[in-house]
This record gives sequence, structure tokens and C-alpha cells, in this order.
Amino acid sequence: MATIPWLADVLRAEGVQVVEEGDWRNRMRPGSFDPIGVLWHHTAATSSASNPHPALNVVINGRSDLAGPLAQCLVDYNGVFHVISAGRCNHAGQARASGPIPAGDGNTMLIGWEIDYNGVDQEMTPAQYNASLKATVAVLRRLGRDASYARGHRETSVTGKIDPSFIDLDVMRSDVARLLNPPPTGWSAIVDNATAGRFTASANWGTSTYSGQRYGSDYRFANPVAASDPAWYQFAVPETGTYRVEAWYPANSGYNNLAPYIIVTSTGNQTVHVDQRVNGGAWRSLGTFTLTAGDENKVGVSRWTSGTGYVIADAVRVTRV
Ligand SMILES: [Zn+2]
Repeated sequence: MATIPWLADVLRAEGVQVVEEGDWRNRMRPGSFDPIGVLWHHTAATSSASNPHPALNVVINGRSDLAGPLAQCLVDYNGVFHVISAGRCNHAGQARASGPIPAGDGNTMLIGWEIDYNGVDQEMTPAQYNASLKATVAVLRRLGRDASYARGHRETSVTGKIDPSFIDLDVMRSDVARLLNPPPTGWSAIVDNATAGRFTASANWGTSTYSGQRYGSDYRFANPVAASDPAWYQFAVPETGTYRVEAWYPANSGYNNLAPYIIVTSTGNQTVHVDQRVNGGAWRSLGTFTLTAGDENKVGVSRWTSGTGYVIADAVRVTRV
């Protein structure tokens, strides 16, 4: 009979908080165990901050009508994974086909999370949801399976089980899939003042080649004014996520000491002031921001500043992090 003695380690490696319950590596039901997926349950016990794992004892030891262990892990109110068994458990019973899981002995094919909430007037906590996602990702990656190999008991049960309730299992699987296949990092794009179709500025912005610290052949400059006349940089952001935004400008003692860079984030515009008198001729980070997917103006340089000296608009780089 196969066992999964790696279970606690792969959960921890995914950032899941783990409590190893006694001799879990040797606590299991007799019989076959050859898991290909994960099955989600709720315990039907009412958990709370003061009583975070009311069903732990019964999941370890079983009930009068069903011998324990009753699942490989119990997920407590705080999202802590209690690792109970490295082998076969009485959690799934007979399974009907669901997704890629064939009909058959569910306790052979599936590793179970008993998520400790009552499922009647209590839904799983955000901590339970997030930990269950991470743990599912960790195990599916180890098994070499995709998100479709995570099922809910109500999808495989032949006896009308309703667990786990208050959760859309397709949404939960899509969240698993997103974590299993994170969007690529490292996407990067540069828009210079000379980039066709991606830089716009009014005629009030002059063009200069004065400083050798410029990016490309030239840059734009304008006097401060108490009016809205920004130069804009348009980026085709591939997906909503976290991006580092950097500016390149030539520095000069006559340039602006408080040049306002406007970043169009998912929660509104944020302004970062840059002293363009120093640190020129290189990429300077303005910070990391959540940008929404879409091809539109994402970064601006404003003339509306209490600083003095020419405001410079040269190049901007956006990088997925
Ligand atoms: Zn169940």
C-alpha cells in the first residue's frame, strides 16, 4: 500500500501552517491507497476562534459507525492544517465519476481535507479557504495533476452528501488552477517619449537633446504650471497584477525637484514625486503598484507641481513582478 509521507513537507513548502498529529505517518486504514486527486469536505461541526477544531478528535479516531482516521487532514478555523494520516482514510466512500476521477473506491483514489465548519449556518472562513487552496495546489503539483483532479464530496458521493457547502466548486478549482499556473513574471515594456502611438504630450512640452543622460534620441520638458497638462505613457498591461514602475530621466540642476509621476492603479491614481536634479540616466523605481489589464494610459508626468525647474518626460518602464 502506498503512503504519502511527504504530505506535511509539501504543505509547509507551499506556505501552509501545519500541525503534525501524533504518529500520522503510520495511522491509516488497511486497504489500497493510490491517490490521484484531492477531495474537499466540511465536518458539520461548528468551529470558532475559541474552538478552532471541534471535529479533530473524531477525524483522528473515528466514530462508533466508522473507523478512523476519517481524512488525511483537518483544516481548522484559522486555516491550520492538522496532518492526521499518510495513508488510506474513511472519507470518500464509493465514488461516482466526477471530472477526471473515475467511479470506484474513493478512499483509494483521493486525499481528503475535512474543513472544520458546520455547513448549515456557517461557511468556511477565508483562512480555511486560502489554506485549502494552497494545500490542494501543493498536493496536485506533487501528484502531477491539474486542478480538475480536485473535487468536492458532493460531486463524487453516491449517497447524497452535500459537503462542502457554501462554496462554488468551479470557482474554487479555477482558483487552484490560477495558483498552479501563475501568470508569467518578467513581462516588461518600455515607452519612450519617441515611442509611436504610446506617448502623448501637448505642444507646451518642448523637445530637447541637451543632456547625454537621455533615453533614446531626445526627451520632453515643460515649465511647471498650476493646470492639468500631463504627458502620458500608454501600456498594454497583459493582466491585472503587481507591476514595478520605473522612470528614466536625465538629471540636471535646472530640472524639477518635485516632478509628479501619476500611476493609474486599480484603486485610482497615485502620485510619486521625483527629484529630477539627481539620479538621472538610469531606471529609477517609483514603486510597485496593482495595474489592471488593458491598453491605456498607465503613467503620466504632470506639470502641476510646487517644485521648481523644468519637468522632464523621458522614458517609463513597467515590469510584472
Ligand atoms: Zn464529506
